[in-house]
Amino acid sequence: MHVVLIALDGVRASDVFEGADPRWLDTERSPQEVVPNLSMLAREGITLGRPGQSPGLSASGPNFVSLPGYTELLSGRFSECHSNDCSTRPEDTLIDWMLKDGTRASKVGVIASWENLERALSPRPTAAFISTGRHGGNAHLVADTELGSQTLAALVDGAEAPSGPGHHDYRPDSYTIELALAYLAEQEPRFMFVGLGDTDEHAHAGDYEAYLGALQRADAFVGRVMQLRNAWEAKGEPTAIFVTTDHGRADDFRSHGKDFPESSAVWLIAAGARINAGSREQLGNYALRDVAPTIAAICELPQAQGMSAGAPIAGVLLHSPTASGSWLASR
Ligand SMILES: [Zn+2]
Repeated sequence: MHVVLIALDGVRASDVFEGADPRWLDTERSPQEVVPNLSMLAREGITLGRPGQSPGLSASGPNFVSLPGYTELLSGRFSECHSNDCSTRPEDTLIDWMLKDGTRASKVGVIASWENLERALSPRPTAAFISTGRHGGNAHLVADTELGSQTLAALVDGAEAPSGPGHHDYRPDSYTIELALAYLAEQEPRFMFVGLGDTDEHAHAGDYEAYLGALQRADAFVGRVMQLRNAWEAKGEPTAIFVTTDHGRADDFRSHGKDFPESSAVWLIAAGARINAGSREQLGNYALRDVAPTIAAICELPQAQGMSAGAPIAGVLLHSPTASGSWLASR
């Protein structure tokens, strides 16, 4: 079983499900034109947070910024971190659950453009393939020593990459995407999280066209992941793809955060093995912390525990693993 979880930083549901915003762009562009691959994935599987439809999906906040969003997404709990530079890390995340389940460390990957995304992972040192920003994570070491992969080692060495459109140690999405595709193709991981961030950087700059361009490049990446998924499924390896975001945006497009409650609105598209086909209208509102438990259920991993833990989203799952017995029997 393979699961690929992709987060597109600060991408609004409206751009994904309704097409380009007529307030900021003269020419009309449908969702199929802006995000053809995400549109296809949405038709194949299920969606949450589609504008005006139920079920919804929210970041729990209370500050709707990136680090709390990624922490909630990966830990399956409320984030104790409420800003982008806190050092409180979650106790454990989906990455630890995968490793605890006996997954070989090199088969669990985290590849992100934003260097701070490493802080959304538990402090436990792991040999998982982690590359955040131009220099964060231990992927270089893993590529060199454990995997002996010159290709991955060269791609991880993002020091040559320019930092724009971000700042500090930010790695542009084009470099992150190249590394993620090489890692996926070479290692065929059980789980990979990919965090792309150019969209949010361009949005903060108020450049809607550049934001759409970054969204289109992210969509093309999703298309490549879908091709790999098809190849894995063809050889009998079930694969699921999840695409989501860490926070929404304010009505003014540029901002997000605690002063803009509307920026809590996020979205999810999930498709593939063990995932329902065709969205079913149902009541309810889910939270980002429900995504990791949903992936854990698909992979038959132990769930996050505790009062603040999320729960598997029943509408996403094809069957409940407890009700139907083995997943493998259903697939
Ligand atoms: Zn932002």
